[in-house]
Amino acid sequence: MKIHEYQAKQIFRELGIPVPEGKVAETPDQAVESARSLGTYPVAVKAQVHVGGRGKAGGVKLAKSAEEAGQHARAILGMSIKGITVKRVLVEAGVDIQREIYAGVIVDRERKAPVLILSAAGGVDIEEVAAADPEKILHLVLQPGLGLQAFQVRRACYFLELPKEAHRAMGETLHALERALFELDASLVEINPLVLTSRNEIIAADGKINLDDNALPLHPDLEGLRDENEEEPLEAEARRHALSYVKLDGKIGCLVNGAGLAMGTMDLVKHFGGELRCDRVAEGVLKARELTGIDVPIVMRLVGTNEDKARELLEGTDLIMLPTMAEAAQKAVELSHRSGD
Ligand code: GDP
Ligand code: MN
Repeated sequence: MKIHEYQAKQIFRELGIPVPEGKVAETPDQAVESARSLGTYPVAVKAQVHVGGRGKAGGVKLAKSAEEAGQHARAILGMSIKGITVKRVLVEAGVDIQREIYAGVIVDRERKAPVLILSAAGGVDIEEVAAADPEKILHLVLQPGLGLQAFQVRRACYFLELPKEAHRAMGETLHALERALFELDASLVEINPLVLTSRNEIIAADGKINLDDNALPLHPDLEGLRDENEEEPLEAEARRHALSYVKLDGKIGCLVNGAGLAMGTMDLVKHFGGELRCDRVAEGVLKARELTGIDVPIVMRLVGTNEDKARELLEGTDLIMLPTMAEAAQKAVELSHRSGD
């Protein structure tokens, strides 16, 4: 489950991470009032939606007066960002930005550990930094039972080339980030940008928290942070009845009691004319084999949409594509005998 920036910032505040003072507004008038009560300018007016890149989409604007904050709120409220209609804005005190840092902590499935991720190239999409300049990103593995250690904090501060005056505040913020991940059972806690001000303060100018749905029953208090405006309406309705429902395209619904049966049923539906992008599957298997270096024969039963394209993709490779489960199973057995063990 995702939560809003203003909710994440409330959690940050409780954990001791400095955040700008701010108020949520649902109308332009409320935004004017919020700006007035903050009493410092500029103020940032920020769309509250569960998607990133709000800045680029025009959902984050600075205002030099309460009236201007109202105008920005009027423009942002009701705007659609990546398909989600903005219902609320956060009006918060502007941050004196000297540098923008990326700080995030995630449960990293590949490293099989929680990992703290840092970059001096904050403010922008971290995936872009990772693709273009991977050396600009520091990964610190949080060892089970040990957690974030003093030497790792020092390493982070030097990697980020922070002035000495900011080291202590940075350490406190990183420890609080780690606590947020563990205490909330989150899968991701991210601050982008984490701002270094000209007075060497560290302030979270943005906040993103993804909670692990499987752990939510342990956190009834967090359930209240759910925003159904952001969810698929049918999935939300199903959850209210304690049902697992996944919305997919198409005209046929499957009512099943178990994931395996769901997959089997989908396969059969697709087998008799539903859709399954065979070329995508073929591409996926080819890629996986290349990455893992599997050198045993692979037999696939593949039928459906773009079947011809898939066959073309597999031509000349030693991947075998057959149209029925029976033929694929027979082929696999035959090949296993040939290999001699
Ligand atoms: P995002 O685009 O959805 O990630 O929203 P952010 O809260 O990260 O805002 C985008 C950018 O707005 C930041 O990276 C800053 O460069 C810029 N910005 C400029 N002044 C401010 C300010 O006072 N507060 C905040 N939050 N962002 C500011
Ligand atoms: Mn951001």
